[in-house]
Amino acid sequence: MRVIVVGAGVVGTMHAWQAVERGHEVVQIEREAEARGASLRNFGQIWVSGRAGGEELETALRARELWEEIGARVPGLGFRANGSLTPVRGDLELAVAEAAVAREDAPARGYKLLTPDEARALNPALRGRFSAALYCERDAAVEPRTAQLALRAELLKSPHYTFKPGREIREVIGGNAVRDDHGDVHCGDVVLLCTGAWLGGLVREVAGPELPVRRVRLQMMQTDPLGEPLTTSVADADSFRYYPAYRSPALDELNARQPQPETAADHRMQLLMVQRADGGLTIGDTHEYEHPFAFDTLEDPYDHLTEVVESFLGRPLPKIRRRWAGVYAQCTDPGRVVHRQQVRDGVWLVTGPGGRGMTCSPAIAETTAKELGW
Ligand SMILES: Cc1cc2nc3c(=O)[nH]c(=O)nc-3n(C[C@H](O)[C@H](O)[C@H](O)COP(=O)(O)OP(=O)(O)OC[C@H]3O[C@@H](n4cnc5c(N)ncnc54)[C@H](O)[C@@H]3O)c2cc1C
Repeated sequence: MRVIVVGAGVVGTMHAWQAVERGHEVVQIEREAEARGASLRNFGQIWVSGRAGGEELETALRARELWEEIGARVPGLGFRANGSLTPVRGDLELAVAEAAVAREDAPARGYKLLTPDEARALNPALRGRFSAALYCERDAAVEPRTAQLALRAELLKSPHYTFKPGREIREVIGGNAVRDDHGDVHCGDVVLLCTGAWLGGLVREVAGPELPVRRVRLQMMQTDPLGEPLTTSVADADSFRYYPAYRSPALDELNARQPQPETAADHRMQLLMVQRADGGLTIGDTHEYEHPFAFDTLEDPYDHLTEVVESFLGRPLPKIRRRWAGVYAQCTDPGRVVHRQQVRDGVWLVTGPGGRGMTCSPAIAETTAKELGW
């Protein structure tokens, strides 16, 4: 079978991976010289901890297994089973963490409630003040800026794989074929449009204006090397307010009695932080839903994040080296892991994994492969 994959982000690349693994011929087409979208701009968190129970958690756990397998073959991914810690302060935050560890699926996530000393034994860089920490053993990380390049280098070892960068797909022709902006036509038995958050143009034309997917913009930053290991990823208790796994009467109580600080509430913020291979810290994030999106990055959210991180680390942050924003596509029904739609005979659109796309893509691609009978 010949598979045409449009888009070289993690969703497209994982579909290419699944197809090549099954012995199919794959042509992957990307309009930029290399992917430049959400797949490079994210934290690289393979994030199991906050996933909703049921299909979403199962997808994330399966994806984590696949990341680990692929990571063993492709060291350039930088896969590491680092786990995560969410330090909490005060009874209201503690009660949400306690409700999380009481969930039926807590063992599958590897949740544990730790004392500050136990948390520091895992991650000695957390010298700041907190009263307990929620540990999630299943969380992991990869290096987002290099992961797609490393995967591509591995795919290129296969005689069945071709990468065509610098070509924007403009048109779907009948079933099974696409035309690029050079005028070339690419035919396959199946075409997968993995075009990320570009929901206008081609995608609007083939999927219609009522696509149940929206765009979300996030602000991020990265520091100079910390000068010491941050052995786990770190989140703050504001992350409880945004991830479905933490929904509980205790969370309602937290929301009612302890509102977020104004800047965090205005920009719908939480802290997520992961150390990069070079020792720098990737720190975020904000969430912007209303269009038109800002074209600049705002300083207040960065000041807030800096304050939160410094309170956990008990030391000043190194210099901020990079600031950026990214946009992902998210299903408007938060219960849906991805939007997978047959838009023509032999042509499928796969988009909308939202803030879990880096985590879930290997399993999303595996499901596509099964559904399409590859
Ligand atoms: C700031 C930020 C932080 C995040 N953090 C995490 C995280 O830690 N963990 C997690 O699980 N998820 C995270 N996410 C979500 C995750 O990054 C995305 O869900 C995922 O990367 C989406 O991958 P994609 O391949 O669909 O899109 P993209 O990476 O955007 O790739 C789509 C590609 O398609 C190409 N393309 C588009 N149209 C065409 C066309 N017509 N012809 C040819 N090529 C085309 C684009 O150039 C692009 O390279 C984060 C997202 C952001 C923005």
